[in-house]
Amino acid sequence: AIPLVVAVSTSMAAKSGLLIRDRQAFEKARSLEAVIFDKTGTLTEGRFGVTDIVSLSGGGNKTNDRNDENHILGLAASLEAISEHPIARGIIDSAKEKGIEPSQVEKFSSIPGKGIEGIIEGKKYLVVSPGYLEEIGIVLEDEKIEKIKEQGKTVVFLLEGKRVLGALALADIVRKESREAVLKLKGMGIKCLMLTGDNRFVAAWVSRELELDDYFAEVLPHEKAAKVQEVQKQYVTGMVGDGVNDAPALAQADVGIAIGAGTDVAIETADIVLVKNDPRDVLYVIELSRRTYSKMY
Ligand code: ADP
Ligand code: MG
Repeated sequence: AIPLVVAVSTSMAAKSGLLIRDRQAFEKARSLEAVIFDKTGTLTEGRFGVTDIVSLSGGGNKTNDRNDENHILGLAASLEAISEHPIARGIIDSAKEKGIEPSQVEKFSSIPGKGIEGIIEGKKYLVVSPGYLEEIGIVLEDEKIEKIKEQGKTVVFLLEGKRVLGALALADIVRKESREAVLKLKGMGIKCLMLTGDNRFVAAWVSRELELDDYFAEVLPHEKAAKVQEVQKQYVTGMVGDGVNDAPALAQADVGIAIGAGTDVAIETADIVLVKNDPRDVLYVIELSRRTYSKMY
């Protein structure tokens, strides 16, 4: 039987938008010593807009530049059509705003945590992360792109085969609730960390904005669970994620918390779901767990 206080708390939790899927994890929430947040869609809104397009296929005058930019955006948006990543949404919306029609794509395939590829009119194109470029041995030194990265923007590249056609920069915004959540957690003596697949400039920028204790950047999806495990050697650890690529990390953590607007996989893997998508509810989870279980023992 479920002890009465726990039953009461669970129903209180549900009323305030917490879905407790694993009661043992809910109990562990009272002892959390560190909370790792995913960046995109968790600490940030996960609503990207394209801010800059850099053509890398060689010179040209101003009108050609505009054509190039629209061409790059159009190809990228076509490839992103099947992706559920927030970056994809941002690129597709920006193309739509400019009235650019997507092209037909064959053989879409996603490269988890790195990007997406597909064939358009017989040619293979990719939209990928800076890390992926490095992996395939492409070294790119472009002053404009370095400047954009330093502004804390996310940069992805459009490739035709192994040739880089251009770069797209996207900016996301830090959720205003994130600052309060981090401040209060730190006030309770809980370490606040961030885990992201995004580049280290973006990570450093968000970390500075929120005064996080530490962060891990450029972490691939399959490495995320291992990072959680590393933190667990020192602390009882919670992981908060929106789901795209986060499911194994959520499963690994002592308490896996999914932001409700995330993917179905994340919600199925999580111990607790924050239905209102508010990172401040992590505090509420901890407080409710402390209140519930202090009444029992
Ligand atoms: P996060 O941990 O911030 O949620 P992910 O692990 O989901 O990030 O993605 C890491 C990086 O991989 C992104 O910053 C981006 O560079 C690249 N990436 C992932 N999916 C896509 C996609 N659909 N289109 C372009 N780039 C992508
Ligand atoms: Mg994510």
